[in-house]
Amino acid sequence: MDPAARAQLASNGLFGHVDLAALEHLLDDCARCVIAAGATLLQPGAANDCIYVVLRGELRVYAGGHEAPAHTVIGIGECVGETSVIDGRSAAALVIAAAETELLAVPPAILWALIERSHGFARNLLATLAGRQRADNLALVTTASRSLEFEQAASVDALTGLHNRRWLSEAFPRAIRRCEQDGTPLCLVMADIDHFKALNDAHGHLTGDAVLRAVARRLAQSLRAPDLVARYGGEEFAVLLPRTATHEGRRIAERLRLSIELLSLAKLTDGALAKVTISCGVAPLGLDTALPTLTAAAESALARAKAGGRNRVEVAGT
Ligand code: GH3
Ligand code: MG
Ligand code: MG
Repeated sequence: MDPAARAQLASNGLFGHVDLAALEHLLDDCARCVIAAGATLLQPGAANDCIYVVLRGELRVYAGGHEAPAHTVIGIGECVGETSVIDGRSAAALVIAAAETELLAVPPAILWALIERSHGFARNLLATLAGRQRADNLALVTTASRSLEFEQAASVDALTGLHNRRWLSEAFPRAIRRCEQDGTPLCLVMADIDHFKALNDAHGHLTGDAVLRAVARRLAQSLRAPDLVARYGGEEFAVLLPRTATHEGRRIAERLRLSIELLSLAKLTDGALAKVTISCGVAPLGLDTALPTLTAAAESALARAKAGGRNRVEVAGT
């Protein structure tokens, strides 16, 4: 190995601060190869029996395949392939040359000899493995938490923390189907805040938001474990009551109505004695078990509750 290459190698990575002269005979037994820019060095799932140390050029590691952003850049003195050589399994990531790259290919027998001969080399290898593991964990945590965020964003309403309409459109029909199969009754309650526009006008939109959150929390707290609640849109909420007959549905809607009427909003409205009430429309599961039909029935009962003076409960078909 020429002195310039040796100096480069000893400056960083696997051979950093290692006495290369003492290992020269081992390194001379390693093959050297040059791969073109864009060429693939390792492929996920493919067998790999060498550690490749970069002598010149640069490699990119793509943990999630070609489409994913580069996971790691491997520069001079750094290596790839160490994990598969040590655990004997196939390569886990895609490795591509970012430029024309010269590599030192270290086979397993020489790797173990290097570890035995040089504490410095063994220490560098451990540091490389530890760094790789940390980067992998970070990448995993990042992708896991991102997908969790995406999932939650898709099904949770940001203002109230309740589930949103998109979630409802999948969860409610599932619950309806279960009751249908069990032959048990079910009720849908649509609950809408009364004169909410006036509250916004009197106290401002931010106070309106805080009231929406308070109402959402109170509704959720007032329900039983199997009940489902979602923000249907604006100041309207949908509540699904499985295994609930019509008279029980009316009683629960009454309880919801009362729990909102008793909500103290003085803190939210600067001490002003603002009152918030809701009107509810209840619809029992009929012969047509489609969610839109059930929703329409509950909405028309809700319209009757509004027309009848608000802060009241009406049941469809009564
Ligand atoms: P009604 O008793 O007939 O239901 O009257 P209302 O004023 O509650 O109903 P209307 O449909 O006329 O107005 C609904 C209001 O709810 C208007 C809209 O600005 C407000 N609103 C909807 N979503 C939000 C929100 O996220 N935050 C706030 N602050 N207001 C909202
Ligand atoms: Mg309203
Ligand atoms: Mg409304």
